[in-house]
Amino acid sequence: GFKSRVSVIGSGSWGSVAAKLVAFNTLNLSSFHDEVKMWVFEETLQSGKKLTDAINRTNENVKYLPGIKLGKNVIADPDLDNAVKGANMLVFVTPHQFIDNICKSLVGKVRSDAEAISLIKGMEVKIEGPCLISTYISEQLGINCSVLMGANLASEIAEEKFSEATVGYGNNREIAEQWVQLFTIPYFMVTPVQDVEGVELCGTLKNVVAIAAGFVDGLDMGNNTKAAIIRFGLREMREFCKLLFSSVKDDTFFESCGVADVITTCFGGRNRKVAEAFAKNGGKRSFDELEAEMLQGQKLQGVPTAREVYEVLRHRGLLELFPLFATVHEICSGCLPPSAIVIYSEKKPRLP
Ligand code: NAD
Ligand code: 13P
Repeated sequence: GFKSRVSVIGSGSWGSVAAKLVAFNTLNLSSFHDEVKMWVFEETLQSGKKLTDAINRTNENVKYLPGIKLGKNVIADPDLDNAVKGANMLVFVTPHQFIDNICKSLVGKVRSDAEAISLIKGMEVKIEGPCLISTYISEQLGINCSVLMGANLASEIAEEKFSEATVGYGNNREIAEQWVQLFTIPYFMVTPVQDVEGVELCGTLKNVVAIAAGFVDGLDMGNNTKAAIIRFGLREMREFCKLLFSSVKDDTFFESCGVADVITTCFGGRNRKVAEAFAKNGGKRSFDELEAEMLQGQKLQGVPTAREVYEVLRHRGLLELFPLFATVHEICSGCLPPSAIVIYSEKKPRLP
């Protein structure tokens, strides 16, 4: 019978873990080809070796996920066209800053019957308005795109510690079940939800809340303040989702992609960590500088997302209804000091 062929596009820390998860399953499920190609943005390591060669030699992503075996059936490939050749299931997992170029170079290169899933937390803002990454992939490549989001710190799943995730899908339940099957492992419990926009926007927007949580940590404001920030954040996430898509369901916020991801990211994520350092330095060192120094090539999504959300709100004249989101961007861009996170989130008009 027909066997599905899976390619993973992206190989950062979450990209590498995603490849590990699906490679475990393709090896064990007869409906999949064993091999999983993983597209790698090629880099030369300090040793002078190519990252792709190092991954294929050691079976580890030595730069972005050292110490974790990916599975011998994961093959790193620096050539994007070659990495997707023949694949009918495409897993997109790169920082959202790069998806535009990746999609443009994939036009005409993917199978017309391919299905995609996006694990990318972010959004595209074009002159025409905001665009979900899944919609962007779908429109650029002419294929359907589901999403997988959740409380999923890559380093913890790499060590096979239990977590949950949410697959968001549009109207094809059968496709959603295929993605659930491909990702589910005893330590990774995946639930399908028919609300692709709600699931994806939760993953996107929680990174802005995580930046706010990091500011509060950097200012030593304590747990009650952080809980208040998380609550303001969740409320603005819900309002923003409904502003863009009236179809978004309230229940989605109680899935792993909603409240659970906000919690884990506000306590253990990279956005939180770098925002804490930013606040400790009184906003005097830029996010770009701190990111480069603290994250070894990994990329923050929260700072660009805060700017993108701000653009959408300003364009619609709604900034004052979203005091937390607006203030995060104003702090990141140096217009307000980090301490404004609490003052401004309190003083501006409240949402109903
Ligand atoms: P990462 O931040 O760990 O790594 C950055 C990646 O970007 C590397 O693979 C690097 O090679 C690549 N890169 C650098 N320059 C590039 C370019 N010009 N073009 C293309 N690629 C380039 O990446 P990640 O953590 O795998 O993040 C991917 C997505 O997954 C993000 O949207 C993130 O929000 C989401 N996510 C991450 C985690 C996590 O814990 N890391 C968990 C869930 C979701
Ligand atoms: P950070 O990018 O802030 O580390 O968040 C990772 C994540 O999305 C956890 O679900």
